[in-house]
Amino acid sequence: MAVEQEIQKRLKPYEKEIEYCSYCPKLCRFACPVANFTCSEASTPTGKMTILKLVKDGVLELDQDSAQLLYQCSGCILSRTYCEHQIEVIGAFEAGRSLAVERGLAPARVMEFAGRWQKQGNPYGKDLASTLKQISNGRHLENKKVLFFSGCTMTNYFPETIKEILKVLERISEEFQIFAEEKICCGYPLYTTGHWKVFKEHQSWLAERLGGYDLIISPCPTCVWFLKSQYQESGLIEVGAIKHITELVSENFTQLSLKGKIKERVLYHDPCHLGRYLGVYQAPRQILQEITEEGYLEFYENQEQANCCGGGGGLGLSHPEIARGIARARIQEAVELGAEILASACPMCERMLSRPGKEAGIKVKDLCELVAELI
Ligand code: SF4
Ligand code: SF4
Repeated sequence: MAVEQEIQKRLKPYEKEIEYCSYCPKLCRFACPVANFTCSEASTPTGKMTILKLVKDGVLELDQDSAQLLYQCSGCILSRTYCEHQIEVIGAFEAGRSLAVERGLAPARVMEFAGRWQKQGNPYGKDLASTLKQISNGRHLENKKVLFFSGCTMTNYFPETIKEILKVLERISEEFQIFAEEKICCGYPLYTTGHWKVFKEHQSWLAERLGGYDLIISPCPTCVWFLKSQYQESGLIEVGAIKHITELVSENFTQLSLKGKIKERVLYHDPCHLGRYLGVYQAPRQILQEITEEGYLEFYENQEQANCCGGGGGLGLSHPEIARGIARARIQEAVELGAEILASACPMCERMLSRPGKEAGIKVKDLCELVAELI
């Protein structure tokens, strides 16, 4: 297909978004964590959408400089919160990124990424299936109707947290199976960075292995949202339900028979994929209310208005300095609020916030880790 036709085809589903945002007087500009960090009008939602409009209209050629801008988005969809038209900008950027990848125009770190992913079927190029089998110690590997899908980020960075989560899950029911196959990744990192061809292959492979369960549980909200939207709702797999671990824990909280409460000051950070994408705001809060002695703290902006950690949308890969700057800003707020523990429910949030948190004397923990400490 000619280049021009391919651009039109790929951007067609986002015509409305591209038109609305590129003519908008930047009404959500103040909320964009990327634009706030870069202080550049080009990386505002309007700025980035204008690039796509010019490319779509044939006025601007997609080159390395314009492609760079399409990657300056964490997919936090905080702009949607303040948008009269409820526009989610990330889908259009991802379509533009897929064109950039196919033409070799994406940032170098993004171009190299698919090769690393293909080595072991995850973004970290490591044998995560072996890690999971070690954690499971021979348990929960046989077929069951409930599947625990840990996801690549938690398995790679926080294997100890998985052990704690398994303790919590076992209190609820022993009847679950761990997904410990070769490629432990939902495919979101490939999709969001524009590696759509590799993603399609992985999507087919994974779909063959995920169908037929009564329930899929994950501690990663990105996996939950992506498995729902790209596999279940698109009809690729049939499963009873896909839930985040905090939903299951809050529904079965009384079965946990916890001992004691947490005395430290715990602040809750809403992960973008758990909150704005999945609409799960209350489950983690109900758990926190139960496990803390004096209740938990909220950020100034929370739930629908919560700020992001900087780790979504492949931003940490394409623009690590921007992602880290966003995470530092989040921790600065946590310091102002006097938090001793920052609890989240997403491995990518924990990854992003852990280092600046440590420097500021704040422990960053997964909510299920806190629950497991009381078992
Ligand atoms: S998301 Fe909404 S408010 Fe933001 S630039 Fe687009 S149209 Fe304007
Ligand atoms: S999704 Fe988030 S990072 Fe991306 S343009 Fe909107 S506010 Fe900015």
